[in-house]
Amino acid sequence: MDTLNDQSLFRPFAYIDGSWVAADSGEQIDVDNPATGEIIARVPRLGAAEAQRAIEAAHAAFPDWRGRTAIERADILYRWYELMIEHKRDLGRIMTLEQGKPVAEAEGEIVYAASFMRWFAEEARRVYGDTIPGAKANQRIMVLKQPVGVVGAITPWNFPSSMITRKAAAALAAGCPIVIKPAGQTPLSATALAVLAERAGVPRGVFNVLPGSASEIGKAMTDSTLVRKITFTGSTEVGRKLMSQASSHIQKISLELGGNAPFIVFDDADLDAAVAGAMASKFRNAGQTCICTNRFLVQSGVVNAFCEKLAAAMNGELMVGDGMQEGVNIGPMINEDAVNKVHEHVQDAIDKGGELMIGGHQHTLGGRFYQPTLINGADASMKVASEETFGPLAAVFPFDDEAQAISMANDTEFGLAAYFYTRDAGRIWRVGEALEYGIVGVNEGLVSNAAAPFGGMKESGLGREGSRYGLEEYMETKYLCMTIQ
Ligand code: ADP
Repeated sequence: MDTLNDQSLFRPFAYIDGSWVAADSGEQIDVDNPATGEIIARVPRLGAAEAQRAIEAAHAAFPDWRGRTAIERADILYRWYELMIEHKRDLGRIMTLEQGKPVAEAEGEIVYAASFMRWFAEEARRVYGDTIPGAKANQRIMVLKQPVGVVGAITPWNFPSSMITRKAAAALAAGCPIVIKPAGQTPLSATALAVLAERAGVPRGVFNVLPGSASEIGKAMTDSTLVRKITFTGSTEVGRKLMSQASSHIQKISLELGGNAPFIVFDDADLDAAVAGAMASKFRNAGQTCICTNRFLVQSGVVNAFCEKLAAAMNGELMVGDGMQEGVNIGPMINEDAVNKVHEHVQDAIDKGGELMIGGHQHTLGGRFYQPTLINGADASMKVASEETFGPLAAVFPFDDEAQAISMANDTEFGLAAYFYTRDAGRIWRVGEALEYGIVGVNEGLVSNAAAPFGGMKESGLGREGSRYGLEEYMETKYLCMTIQ
């Protein structure tokens, strides 16, 4: 890691109670570079005992942290934001090396991740309660908002920095300490955040990072009566497991899970704008985001024109390669399983009659690189219709009218993000209200923003992150019923 300006950001350790530690067992996890397969670091593989210690440290840090004024917490978060921006080049490189996304995109994620620090630094000062008329003339009701307590967070590899800050900034702003288990593939982005947390003045015990066994640490979090809130981003399968585990102590829980995003193009859409939105929503992070389009639903009158324009954009704009290389905008898949899944969806769609327009195979670079692929004539029988591909496959499903588009869009157990393109104002309202999704892009392919509530309906999750709603997730509502004597 000699390409960093600040070498101390590269920390292959766990961070508990303000100390950098190894696993009790001495076990380690290999972290590799998805572009080359080379091992770039070994980090400790922590288990239940270390998780328990981190939870106790967080609990011990809680009274001081919650007792500080909102502005003191805000100032620390703001300083952390500034440090992230100051070090965005290094943080971006660490991310590219362990995750694979192109450096420009990685730096973009750092800016996005830091934006949660800034947003929640501001929101920390606006935790308002209520006063409510009482039932008797001399009675008053006051509503207080208080931090829930220790938070256990489990985060994925696709956004190694922002999925942490989106949780941690809100938790810390509310007055809650946090214990985080980052994904095994991307622990170094998480520990780099801890280095900056310490420099920003986050007190020991308030922010802890525990790379290690997901099942052991997750279980330690849900078994603990000290942990009052679980927040998770990842697959629906693991989310379901955590929700069931969290029931033993009735822990509060937020879940941001899988998606199967539809991207609807009506025949009155601005096709060039739709193609630009399609490129952004489909190919960011090589298709490995939970809000990436999984199904392009395109009205029959424009389906061929749309496919031609999308094919031209894919051929002209996408460059596959090692994310460290200048000009590359599609990096490798995270691992071989991911490559195999994309190929399985592609092959399945072709076998069932889909028309392959571009790609269709592993890239000539080999390894974990896959060709951006476009398939027209997709239908409901194909795997890509019902399962999240999580890769660079654009599958186009033709439809005839608005009612059919809405019904196809909603025909899934997921409900995270949806997109649609139209210039008809009435249709914007009808479709916008009919889509069973938590996030809807209207003539827009990029929807993530710290100021907006991010989260899903149905089996895509519970709760919202970012925005003022995101702060609520880390607070209890208490009311005082008071008689004036
Ligand atoms: P993905 O498919 O994106 O890797 P996962 O849900 O498998 O999604 O992983 C997201 C996070 O959940 C990772 O940090 C992973 O280590 C963690 N995880 C996986 N299995 C469990 C489990 N049984 N309990 C708690 N966390 C888990």
